[in-house]
Amino acid sequence: MDFRTIGVLGGGQLGRMLVEAASRLNINVIILDKPSDSPAKQIQATRSHIQGDFKDPNKIKELAQKVDILTIEIEHVNVDILETLSKEKKEKIVICPSPTTIRLIQDKYIQKLHLFKNNIPVVDFMEINTKDDLNLVSEKFGYPMMLKSKTLAYDGRGNYVVRSSEEIEKALEFLGNFKTPLYAERWTSFIKELAVMVVRRANGEVKSYPVVETIHKENICHMVIVPAQVNGLILENAKIIAEKTISTLSGAGVFGVEMFLMSDGHIYVNEIAPRPHNSGHYTIEACETSQYENHLRSILNISLGSTLLKVPATAMINILGKSEDFQECLKPCAEALSIPGTTIHLYGKKECRKGRKMGHITVVADSISQLFKRIDPILRIIDENES
Ligand code: ATP
Ligand code: MG
Ligand code: MG
Repeated sequence: MDFRTIGVLGGGQLGRMLVEAASRLNINVIILDKPSDSPAKQIQATRSHIQGDFKDPNKIKELAQKVDILTIEIEHVNVDILETLSKEKKEKIVICPSPTTIRLIQDKYIQKLHLFKNNIPVVDFMEINTKDDLNLVSEKFGYPMMLKSKTLAYDGRGNYVVRSSEEIEKALEFLGNFKTPLYAERWTSFIKELAVMVVRRANGEVKSYPVVETIHKENICHMVIVPAQVNGLILENAKIIAEKTISTLSGAGVFGVEMFLMSDGHIYVNEIAPRPHNSGHYTIEACETSQYENHLRSILNISLGSTLLKVPATAMINILGKSEDFQECLKPCAEALSIPGTTIHLYGKKECRKGRKMGHITVVADSISQLFKRIDPILRIIDENES
């Protein structure tokens, strides 16, 4: 399909699904990650991947020498070296998304500020540098209030819900007492969380995927329902906001836009992922072109594929670690084996931990009611496991 080689910073499950899509198109991918057998490396084992940290500038340089295009499956990479590489005239390399975009998104406070300045609706937020700042903001935002790490956050691990002034001390301790910088957000009593994947090519062509509903438990994505069960006006508005959000950023690739839907129909943007996203896993089985294939097409600057749904309804259920015992995670998968329309994805992670994303199950159906019937037994087993 294309003779250029793609280098990926990070070799987790997103990288693994990217490699799956690439191998179908016979596109060569080289992964940079610490483990020699990371999820993405496991399924393309004959390639000479690089063992090292995606924050290590020398390792990134080594990868850059072997590839034509660099992309990421995680945003917490070393951007300084990416910026340097993109400026080097001799061996100019394509970096997607642009290092400027990666830098902006790495810091969730800077990201919020950027969205605010670009008239994208966001909830009230404030930088927190001292305990006094936190006391001050609590007067403005009230309780509960969301305290967040500006950087290195994922799966809600940098978030703390502060429910009263007595919890301030505990919240600061949990988030490392300013070792990583912090900011606060007003608590948002959303009725649903929505997300849209948007893909853009270097030539400016943009396509967006259907609006999905994401259901989080304890700050971590548990399930995705597609299409989102909201009225057409909200669907249209969410799509417009997501596309407008991505238009404020530079660079090709696929982007995830997470949003909060309020009871009056108002939508706020929560955050952006500058890469394939958990809320887009379902596209593998349920869309005409998956988010992974379209990410590859966008960074190769070749025609994007259709983002339309192939089925009337679909859901994605995350398989999260319950403990160190991976066998526990397999119970919902075993149930799914006998349910029509299901596809099980296991990521090949060597260690299981509570809350770690170990796999997911996609379910497709002919209607929303059939979908809910199909997912019910899987969800029951997950709930039983939790209690
Ligand atoms: P991700 O894995 O998506 O990168 P993250 O660690 O960056 O997650 P956020 O997306 O900021 O974390 O928050 C995780 C979840 O916490 C949200 O999806 C939402 O359910 C909840 N949440 C975040 N901000 C707020 C808020 N201001 N008010 C209420 N709930 C919130
Ligand atoms: Mg995030
Ligand atoms: Mg998020």
